Amino acid sequence: MTTLEKTHALSIQNREEFWGQQAHRIHWESPHDKVLEFDHPPFAKWFVGGRTNLCYNAVDRWLKTQADQAALIWVSTEVNKEIVFTRSDLFREVNAFAAMLKAQGVSEGDRVLIYMPMIPSAVFAMLACARIGAIHSVVFGGFASVNLAQRIDDAQPTVIVSADAGSRAGKVTPYKPLLDKAISLCNSPPKAVIIEDRGLHEMNWVDGRDQDYASLREQYLGQTVDVTWLESSQPSYILYTSGTTGRPKGVQRDTGGYAVALATSMEYIYDGHPGETFLCTSDIGWVVGHSYIVYGPLIAGMATILYEGTPVRPDGGILWRLVQDYKVSVMFSAPTAIRVLKKQDPELLGKYDLSSLRALYMAGEPLDEPTATWISQGLGKPVIDNYWQTETGWPILAAQPGIEKRPTRFGSPSFPVYGYDVKILDEQTGQELGAGQKGVVAIFPPLPPGAMSTVWGDDERFVQTYFTSIPGRQVYSTFDWGLVDQDGYWFILGRTDDVINVAGHRLGTREIEESVNSHPAIAESAVVGVSDALKGQVAVAFVVLKQPERFDVVTGQPALAKEIMRVVDDQLGAVARPAAIQFVTALPKTRSGKVLRRAIVAVCEGRDPGDLTTIEDPATLEQIQKHT
Ligand code: ATP
Ligand code: MG
Repeated sequence: MTTLEKTHALSIQNREEFWGQQAHRIHWESPHDKVLEFDHPPFAKWFVGGRTNLCYNAVDRWLKTQADQAALIWVSTEVNKEIVFTRSDLFREVNAFAAMLKAQGVSEGDRVLIYMPMIPSAVFAMLACARIGAIHSVVFGGFASVNLAQRIDDAQPTVIVSADAGSRAGKVTPYKPLLDKAISLCNSPPKAVIIEDRGLHEMNWVDGRDQDYASLREQYLGQTVDVTWLESSQPSYILYTSGTTGRPKGVQRDTGGYAVALATSMEYIYDGHPGETFLCTSDIGWVVGHSYIVYGPLIAGMATILYEGTPVRPDGGILWRLVQDYKVSVMFSAPTAIRVLKKQDPELLGKYDLSSLRALYMAGEPLDEPTATWISQGLGKPVIDNYWQTETGWPILAAQPGIEKRPTRFGSPSFPVYGYDVKILDEQTGQELGAGQKGVVAIFPPLPPGAMSTVWGDDERFVQTYFTSIPGRQVYSTFDWGLVDQDGYWFILGRTDDVINVAGHRLGTREIEESVNSHPAIAESAVVGVSDALKGQVAVAFVVLKQPERFDVVTGQPALAKEIMRVVDDQLGAVARPAAIQFVTALPKTRSGKVLRRAIVAVCEGRDPGDLTTIEDPATLEQIQKHT
């Protein structure tokens, strides 16, 4: 057995021993009595009886050794500002924020909803909640009022923290009107709203409810607020899944398990060390932002970069400029961001000194081989695909260079991560499948520390949603397809609801997309199954070209469409060949960068696309409508 396999085996066969050892990575105010309590499956409790605090571990704990070192680096290419907060700056700001929350009546167990752009006060607010034992619910900034109202009603926050506006690619989105509307729609309005006025957009002030952050800050600056020690299983936050497949679920996260899991992942998976800098290009509104912009790096004593901006402004070199200037050692991004860069000048990759960078980690969606190859060759660095979900909070599958360096394979997020008893199961029978066989990626409970404890306020929905879909056994379904190859490398083949059935053949849309994308003219594609009177369903491909100007509509596009079909025929067989290939300038995506297949299918079938509040750009769907 390799070291990696041994570590994994220990983590499953002797959970108490493995996690008991990892627990020492964080500060506990009082130690746990029991590593794991699993009396009521599938509910698991980790480090039972131990008391700790996320804010203490992220901030206070590092004051002794790193008071004057960078902790939070804010870079905004939207408002052209760069500010470095040292650990003691962070301590000061978080304490001031905690004091103002307390003054608004927030106490242990109360919820605080954070509806903010990527600005430092958003991070201060998160850590301040953690400090006083309040449960935060960060909602992606700029979400529509209906989404926001749903989440307000679900969490019933005492206070909402927000700002006048966000800015993306130079375009200002006023948040305040969206928030006011959401509050008017919801059934449980907050007692107070703390607003940071960035001077981006004028606001209507609601007297008696709205409070100005700058004035409050002035009032409370210099105060320190005692840490509220939480029992390990007490909730730290609520976070909703991306909503790619329907009604979002409020994932409830614990405290002690999460801190231990993140600290462990920082060394074993991300190979990051105290004093170094982490750059994660996600948003604090998503799980990747929670775990690897805010809590993971800070708990591990690293500096973290909070970046407000796009990967292409002022030019496609901005991320690499940040790596150079802040000596980033670990970078985490999403395939969608890298595909955007692929359309930019490749010279930009070589323009900066990237010697500090050890590896680029990617997650969130399938990392296609052309994109992986392009970026890893361009950077001359390893690219590490890691697979996980909002629910798990940290990777299920990943290379783990901090345990053992093993070669990676493009298209594969490598191996199961310690703590996850993950298997490929047959969807119909629940039987475990062998090498090369495609099935559902499932996790045998207990879920590891830091993974979701339950659905907020709805234990029943937790069990029903995740633990009942595979017959015969109570296992957690990821609702993703996967397979393990002969050498033990894992592959994710798309979501279980993305399978299409063409004349009796079950095809994964992801496989067809991979094949389409392997044509050098294609930047990205979305393949969906559209109902067809004859064949049940047919595959339709929507493709975005790298250089659209090279293919005119009359001859260029039809010729290219034929070529693409030939590629699919060769790689997957004629049965997988898309019935139509449509050229579009962009794909409809959620704000987290995931293709909204459900909406594309609906439009293609002439149905109402349903809830579109998470869509990034509605014009993309209109393009698709034109093609139908
Ligand atoms: P919802 O559950 O509300 O429909 P979502 O599943 O898109 O939304 P997330 O939790 O943000 O919400 O995304 C997790 C999903 O993203 C995974 O289940 C998987 O489908 C996909 N994913 C994440 N990382 C990878 C990866 N490295 N390779 C392939 N797919 C990935
Ligand atoms: Mg999901």
